[in-house]
Amino acid sequence: MEQIKIHLDEKDMPRQWYNLAADLPTPMLPPLTPDGQPITPEMLEPVFPRNLIDQEVSRERWIDIPEEIVSILYRWRPTPLRRAVYLEKFLKTPARIYYKDESVSPSGSHKTNTAVAQAWYNKQFGIKKLTTETGAGQWGTALAFSCYVLGLECKVFMVRVSFDQKPMRKTIMNMWNANCVASPSTETEAGRAILARMPDTPGSLGIAISEAVEAAVSDKTGKTRYALGSVLNHVMLHQTIIGLEAKKQLEKVGIKKPDVIIGCAGGGSNFAGIAFPFTSDKINGAKIEIIPVESAAAPKMTQGKFAYDHGDVAGMTPLLPMHTLGHNFVPPPVHAGGLRYHGMAPLVSQAIVEGLMTPWAADQLQSFEAALTWARTEGFIIAPETSNAVACVIREAEKARQEGKEKVILFNLSGHGLLDLAGYEKYLTGNLDRSCLTADDIRRTVDKIKLDPRADQRKTGKW
Ligand SMILES: *Cc1c(COP(=O)(O)O)cnc(C)c1O
Repeated sequence: MEQIKIHLDEKDMPRQWYNLAADLPTPMLPPLTPDGQPITPEMLEPVFPRNLIDQEVSRERWIDIPEEIVSILYRWRPTPLRRAVYLEKFLKTPARIYYKDESVSPSGSHKTNTAVAQAWYNKQFGIKKLTTETGAGQWGTALAFSCYVLGLECKVFMVRVSFDQKPMRKTIMNMWNANCVASPSTETEAGRAILARMPDTPGSLGIAISEAVEAAVSDKTGKTRYALGSVLNHVMLHQTIIGLEAKKQLEKVGIKKPDVIIGCAGGGSNFAGIAFPFTSDKINGAKIEIIPVESAAAPKMTQGKFAYDHGDVAGMTPLLPMHTLGHNFVPPPVHAGGLRYHGMAPLVSQAIVEGLMTPWAADQLQSFEAALTWARTEGFIIAPETSNAVACVIREAEKARQEGKEKVILFNLSGHGLLDLAGYEKYLTGNLDRSCLTADDIRRTVDKIKLDPRADQRKTGKW
């Protein structure tokens, strides 16, 4: 019998995170203010603690993981690497498919990796309370857990429509003592202003971010900060533990390098987590195909522009150099809520510009079909976000069959789908659509992106 589960001992868990910013062949463009001035670390201090700002701008290749974070992560890390032999047989592919199972974390996704780290650094800095936004609820639950185990208060602004659709996510947050309110709320000026204009709005991530940032910066005691679950450099950093573990696990079964690496990408963090440690090998000459998979409902990497844009609808965040559909873009309501974001992490975006990564988009029906195939072969019910990655895995495994190649495919299983059954019910009863955008939709949204200040596409031309 083939070895299906590859485990690591606690003592083999990585003790450092990997920072791709140290190795990118073309340096990153800096974040800017709306009038085009570089953002200084001091400007970010009302929002984030200084120790995380230092990580955000760091060019150090390796950053030590503090011992207390390691001991919290031991609850579920190292996560298993599994081989999807049942799917391989079903597809009759010569490819070997391996996946990191990040669904085993307390809140059910990879997001807990950075939530624990962010809560810890805030606590070190003397912060007592964190605020954040959450869409589908994965990030809110991850931060609620992390704040609870570290003794911080946690306040979550949850997009109204998800708050009403997924009441159980709020229950989970409450079990870890977090305070979760529907956004827009009456607790912030931003929320009240929107409610006055649009009392029945379903809310949006952009609105919820504005509320969470306001709630953090308006606390007069100075002991509250804001936390973001993806996109930023320090979030990518914390997720690299996934790929670093995977490397050790593949070595255990004699695999020096995978041929193809795949992850779904909303803001880019779970994909970066598995891909960045191998991107370093690719920069140093290894031949690896690296594929971030987006939802065709928010196709920023395959159809957006590389430009300076805000991370939120209200324009409160700095301008980030990234692939974007424009910060006013509102994606169709696909069930993969975590992929409904207009922009892509600057680190992932720069690696795409450099040619190190080749994005692909899956539509909603392709991805649900892939999730069903997965449930019927491997058995697990995966998050709708993850199913976009699985659609790409199936495509690559079928390609390997046609080419007769024994490739090694590695992907990140970012979360379980046990709270997403309403979406699966709709799929099974034929009530889901593809949720692709028309060329007109794309042109209309992309045309609105401001191209000043200009984000130059810098690349060496090696890939
Ligand atoms: C949030 C989320 C994503 C997308 O976010 P990234 O930052 O791109 O990883 C993907 N899968 C799951 C399960 C999520 O919760």
